[in-house]
Amino acid sequence: MPPTTPETHAFQAETRELLDLMIHSLYSNREIFLRELVSNASDALDKLRFEAARDPSLRDGAEEPRIRLEPDPAARTLVVDDNGIGMTREEVVSNIGTIARSGTKAFVEELRKQKDAGDAPPELIGQFGVGFYSSFMVADKVVVETRKAGSDEAVRWTSEGDGRFAVEACDKSSHGTRITLHLREPLRDDDGETVDGTQDFSDPLVLRDVVKRHSDFVAWPVQMDVEREEGEGEEKQTVVRTETLNSMKPLWTRPKSEITDEEYAEFYRHHSHDWHDPLSTIHVHAEGTHEYTALVFLPQQRPHDVFDPTHHNSRLSLYVKRVFVMQECEELLPTWLRFARGLVDSADLPLNVSRETLQHNRQIGQIRKRLVKKVLETLGGLLADDREKYTRFWASLGAVLKEGIYLDGTHRDDLAQVALFQSSAGIGPAEDGEEADDAPAEDAACPHGFTTLSEYVARMPLAQSSIYYVTGPDRASVEGSPHIEAARAKGYEVLFMIDPVDEWVLQRLQSFEDKPLVSLDRGAGDLDEGDEAEEQRKEKQTELAPLLEAARDSLDDYVKEVRLSGRLKQSPAVLVSDEGALSPQLEQMLRAQGQSVPPQKRILELNPDHPVLARLTELHGSGDEQRFHLFVELLHGQALLAEGSPVPDPARFARLVTELMAPGDLTASGGAPDGAAGAEGAAGAEA
Ligand code: ADP
Repeated sequence: MPPTTPETHAFQAETRELLDLMIHSLYSNREIFLRELVSNASDALDKLRFEAARDPSLRDGAEEPRIRLEPDPAARTLVVDDNGIGMTREEVVSNIGTIARSGTKAFVEELRKQKDAGDAPPELIGQFGVGFYSSFMVADKVVVETRKAGSDEAVRWTSEGDGRFAVEACDKSSHGTRITLHLREPLRDDDGETVDGTQDFSDPLVLRDVVKRHSDFVAWPVQMDVEREEGEGEEKQTVVRTETLNSMKPLWTRPKSEITDEEYAEFYRHHSHDWHDPLSTIHVHAEGTHEYTALVFLPQQRPHDVFDPTHHNSRLSLYVKRVFVMQECEELLPTWLRFARGLVDSADLPLNVSRETLQHNRQIGQIRKRLVKKVLETLGGLLADDREKYTRFWASLGAVLKEGIYLDGTHRDDLAQVALFQSSAGIGPAEDGEEADDAPAEDAACPHGFTTLSEYVARMPLAQSSIYYVTGPDRASVEGSPHIEAARAKGYEVLFMIDPVDEWVLQRLQSFEDKPLVSLDRGAGDLDEGDEAEEQRKEKQTELAPLLEAARDSLDDYVKEVRLSGRLKQSPAVLVSDEGALSPQLEQMLRAQGQSVPPQKRILELNPDHPVLARLTELHGSGDEQRFHLFVELLHGQALLAEGSPVPDPARFARLVTELMAPGDLTASGGAPDGAAGAEGAAGAEA
């Protein structure tokens, strides 16, 4: 009936790369392609059940919902057939012709990076669910025939994984999806045995085994026709029987004590498309006023879409009396636990619940409360019992949990208890520092490079009353930053707030166990420098007022004050902000998000004891204004670099440094650009 000229489409570049990887993959665990296809088929049956509850006419024929495997060893094909919801032509093209899912895009990007770094990709395959595309690990040609329930048009999608796919109309007697894999030859060793992981997937015994291993709890029957010898003697004959390969028992309905770790892990992989084991499994069964079961998994690694700004809702599915109702039920967990996977099965909710009614449902509210508490307890337990594992988890997902500190006042304190931060502990004593007598040895602290706030507080010397931190773009910048010199010289530990989300955390987390959190790059710095030192510094500041004023004038675009510093030990200068001002990182972040942020002028502090100040004083006294201003400009530039910020005009900065190394006539050699030759314009003229 339908026109038969196939339309040819090219795959997106990302899809091509992905297919290429699948085809050339050395991944030893190729059998998981079957789990992916069975998962998709099971989702399609769930969706049809849900739709058909409203419109029973969608389901045609008398056949019960099922997934069928049809191996054909002679033709070397395997068919995976479901009578689920099916797809329209548009859906086929957009679902399996292009990589719409940001996760797969992220996968390909990561893949490119690792390829450049010369790493083998197989491990990477495991970090992402690549679903349908994994068919190309075992097949060199894949045909998808599908018909959407309620429609009478069927479509055939064909690809050899070579960058193109064809789409044409076809005949199909019932709704659902039929996927035919033209299998590659299995790899065999010298003895003719198949090489691990490349079994013959047209062999019914192999299929039975793989289904049992990966898809046993799938809620729909996975069926296969199996030939058997039946009868005795004369009567003996070969009969074909349809067998259901999986037990279909939903895992979460079984008693916890009877479920093995491997079964949990397999269920998690099926449910999440992650190829790793879960980090932790939370299985709760509640009885009483409300009856429900929840099965929640925390992943070991960051799911690919966790920072997708369009996809911030919880990833728990909702079931009612074992019937799937909806995916990603956002009422079940807050956004800052969106990396958790799993489901809640309620015995009390009506089957026809909608997203709207859920929002005001008290029962859902209580389930959510209980689950959040459970997750936080689980994290606390892991922190106490397996620090190394927890630290790895935190390094990967801590940024998401920190969002909770900002967003969720109810759980802020609990989250602060399990939060980890990098810190100066463990990087050795400060150079020429006068270590306080009661300062702890830093080396023993900070297992795996991260500390909790409680541990920080426990290490505080008696004289220290605040928790000190510094913000910055990365560890290297803050470690060497002049801001932390005085604190470290006193033997005070400094937290490194180097995660972009820390800026938001710090807006809400102002103290911990009654100790205020104090920034070392904002305000006057409350590190007591000693009365005498302070007196001396103030006197010197009055004496140098004209110099400081002249320096401020030449940096007018960037700096609102130049003053002497009580916080520097080795560095000649440092930039600080007002109390409550945006940090340079936050300023940059907001700009990058397209927000208009007025330029913030900062304060340049000079080290009163540094030879550079003596040299500046000399220049100022000599009346060589031009040189004085260039020095001030350089000093400002190096203070920016020292804290990890960019200088306003790197090319000009580089020229000035070169001049300094091989002094010539700065104006004549082009060291200063047009208009900058005069003392006024020498520094800070170009914004
Ligand atoms: P995922 O399952 O992770 O979304 P896949 O690449 O496996 O990724 O599938 C992409 C999409 O194609 C699915 O989300 C689904 O919409 C559709 N799809 C795949 N297999 C089937 C099927 N058997 N029946 C209906 N739709 C399917």
